[in-house]
Amino acid sequence: MAINTATYLRIRDELNAAGVTLVAVSKTKPVEDIQALYDLGHRDFGENYVQELVDKAGRLPADIRWHFIGHLQSNKVKYIAPFVHLVHGVDSIRLLQEINKQSRKNERRIDCLLQVHIAREETKFGFDESMVADALEQMHNDPAAWDHVRVCGLMGMASFTDNHDQVRNEFKELHRLFVKSRSTLSRNDTFTILSMGMSGDYETAVQEGSTLVRIGSLLFGARQYPV
Ligand SMILES: *Cc1c(COP(=O)(O)O)cnc(C)c1O
Repeated sequence: MAINTATYLRIRDELNAAGVTLVAVSKTKPVEDIQALYDLGHRDFGENYVQELVDKAGRLPADIRWHFIGHLQSNKVKYIAPFVHLVHGVDSIRLLQEINKQSRKNERRIDCLLQVHIAREETKFGFDESMVADALEQMHNDPAAWDHVRVCGLMGMASFTDNHDQVRNEFKELHRLFVKSRSTLSRNDTFTILSMGMSGDYETAVQEGSTLVRIGSLLFGARQYPV
């Protein structure tokens, strides 16, 4: 239980220079580790589990920007709606509707990313290209109904593989879809986030146009169990 300070500073500076946001993925890690990174000035943290996020948020400084990066179940949106900064893994229009509803109850507007299925693996959730277009069109056609969410971009995870060409191609594909989706929007000034890249592939992701990377194990060390 200790953070990799030198690695953090190196990655932080490297990403700063590239204009890329670093989200430190702290799932399964103790609040002391998050506080240590906070004390170095870091504010963006990512969590995958609702209960864990709620617990940690209650014990840590209020100015942390909490990113929810896991698979979010509709019935749990209400627990994070009061404070979450950005929901990355929106994988259905139904979930987006629920976020909109809970956000309205909290008199907020919650920023979201649509999760796109780019990996060849079967198990990952998400939209495909036509579903992204449909969702954006639905929102465009009835802005009043979607007043409490803002889709700020796309998120994706590459296949878990040693095949670097495949990973690169998946990122290229997501970037293409991001640019294309942005071009269809009349107001594209808030559709600016492309969340792709993790510890093992973030350099490739940045080369392929990522604007935000989600890095856990490089900063906090390997997790005890794979999640
Ligand atoms: C766990 C997780 C990460 C961070 O993974 P590392 O390989 O530890 O950097 C990033 N994104 C998502 C969606 C995750 O679930």
